[in-house]
Amino acid sequence: MIELIKVGERTYYFTGLFHVGVYLISYDEVCLIDAGIDKEYASELDELLIMKNWKVRLIINTHYHADHCGGSRYFQDKYNCKIYASGINAALISDYDICPAIVWGASPLNVLMNNYYYADSCDAEDITGKKLPEGLEILKLPGHAISMIGVKTGDNVLFLGDAVVGAEVLEKEKLTYIYDIGEYLKSLDTLEQIESKMYVPYHGEPVTDIKELVRINRENVIINLKRVKAICRTPRKFDEIVHEFFNDVDMELTLYKYNVKGGMIKTYLTYLHNIGKMETECIDNYLLWQTIS
Ligand SMILES: [Zn+2]
Repeated sequence: MIELIKVGERTYYFTGLFHVGVYLISYDEVCLIDAGIDKEYASELDELLIMKNWKVRLIINTHYHADHCGGSRYFQDKYNCKIYASGINAALISDYDICPAIVWGASPLNVLMNNYYYADSCDAEDITGKKLPEGLEILKLPGHAISMIGVKTGDNVLFLGDAVVGAEVLEKEKLTYIYDIGEYLKSLDTLEQIESKMYVPYHGEPVTDIKELVRINRENVIINLKRVKAICRTPRKFDEIVHEFFNDVDMELTLYKYNVKGGMIKTYLTYLHNIGKMETECIDNYLLWQTIS
């Protein structure tokens, strides 16, 4: 059962699978930080808002991923609220069809269209230069997704989007989605310097000290970088890298995981190539990846 937890004078978050933030901006109006995965989930959150007599005036989506913006359309249809997101994220949320193609690299497979992968589009605007409700502050935390942001409330509670995930999520997933490893690591450094009363990951339990969460998320990236480098000590085809990686972390490959986790493995290969630790060669019409020792 989802509950609404108060963590500051005007700041709340929803428990449940996704930690949506709630900031009271007048006696009966709220700003949501992210919106849940789909309209069913959003309507469950809405039931709790209705009990409080609160209306949604604004949603800030930290990034365009469906689990964060899939519920936005429900709230916009019902409350005619504004939706803000950072830079390109506003365009992506407004016309969702292109988003699954970002992961797959082509028009996506219909069988993969679950609610983590595809969201209802809604009318979102770029947050740049917008006047925000008093007390709200935006923090740039790119890496997990392009131009991702965190949101700090007037009660000094920081909603992190997916800048970090909880320990239990890391333990289960091993490989979490990152768009750009270099940016992601820089955002972890930024996060470590930010003093807040509470930090709320979208996936994971809120913490009062961010350092340990940053440490384990950074450690996870370093372990995966080592894993990919070790696999490519001899020249490897991409599918062999996926195979070895899945064996290493004891995961079972499916078409869906090949698509999503395969994309994540590409992120690691890209980063290593860009920093000069990996090279590619075409032999017999196979593209081979090899670690530069
Ligand atoms: Zn997420």
